[in-house]
Amino acid sequence: MKLRIFLPIILCLLLTACSGGNTEEYSYDFFAMDTFMSLTAYGKNAEKGVKAAAGRIAELTLMLSVTDENSELSAINRVGTAEVSGETAELIAFALDIADKTDGALDPTIYPVLRAWGFTAEENRVPAPEELSALLENVSHERVQVDRNTVTLGEGMMLDLGAVAKGYAGDEAERILRENGITSALINLGGNIQLVGTKPDGTDWRLGLKDPAGAGNVGVLTVSDCAVVTSGSYERCFTADDGTVYGHIIDPTSGYPADNGLLSATIIADEGRLCDALSTALFVMGKDRALDFWRENKSFDVILITDNAEVLITEGIADKFQLDSAHGNLTVKVID
Ligand code: AMP
Ligand code: MG
Repeated sequence: MKLRIFLPIILCLLLTACSGGNTEEYSYDFFAMDTFMSLTAYGKNAEKGVKAAAGRIAELTLMLSVTDENSELSAINRVGTAEVSGETAELIAFALDIADKTDGALDPTIYPVLRAWGFTAEENRVPAPEELSALLENVSHERVQVDRNTVTLGEGMMLDLGAVAKGYAGDEAERILRENGITSALINLGGNIQLVGTKPDGTDWRLGLKDPAGAGNVGVLTVSDCAVVTSGSYERCFTADDGTVYGHIIDPTSGYPADNGLLSATIIADEGRLCDALSTALFVMGKDRALDFWRENKSFDVILITDNAEVLITEGIADKFQLDSAHGNLTVKVID
């Protein structure tokens, strides 16, 4: 299993001219859900809206963290069944639904395997194949029951919402900003981007899509009113003693980090949680399966960056992407 070595980089933002004229702007940077987040809103209630949205994300962090023993998720994982808030139950049901639709490429029950690799404790190790196959016995999204607010797992199972929680937090941040009358805002949750409206001057936002194999951006996406979420091994990985690099996105069929020719998968759609779930799932699927999945669904757009220097971009978003001039070695292919 050989992954290329990447710098730990995240989708970064190229924010060009932000405020038009006298538009009030308020930004707040903070750490939540194990990542750096930044909220920027424009308009009269910008400060009030941003503070309320950040407070909401803090609440969600407490509810959904897999490592905080006081979270609702830990309550389920500790004994295998627990009554949780309707909101947590609903997010688990959503993750299970996507697990079903992606044939288990996304699987929120991957946690026992993820833990063996040490990704949640930041004490990484390479588990033995026998250990992984034993742990995989406890990975099956089909053996989770959500009955109203009660979530019940099969024997030995544990849940992790790491692949969807930030996307859902983006949806909640957007909802709260809009409730506060904000019509222009940029939500950046560790590289998960959610855009409320356009920039205050009415033009689209410009987002730099990070090069997953090096420095800089492979290009710029010019979009508004949508979520843009990227998954890639480079975001969190470790190098083993033999030099092999292992990433944090696990292929539930093997128990090993997904390593199938993709460097990153970016999903663009309205809903953050959908983008988040699918970016992880499509990264696991690899190029061919990911494109088949898109062709069967088409309710979202995709940008895949492959390890043979291709940028595959679906037709709905193709004219909104501009390749960076320093990345002329990449071939852009429009997918229909
Ligand atoms: P993301 O950055 O959204 O792609 O999510 C990656 C995170 O989701 C990892 O850090 C794990 O917590 C978790 N994870 C890893 N592999 C999977 C998988 N196949 N299905 C669901 N969650 C996963
Ligand atoms: Mg995800």
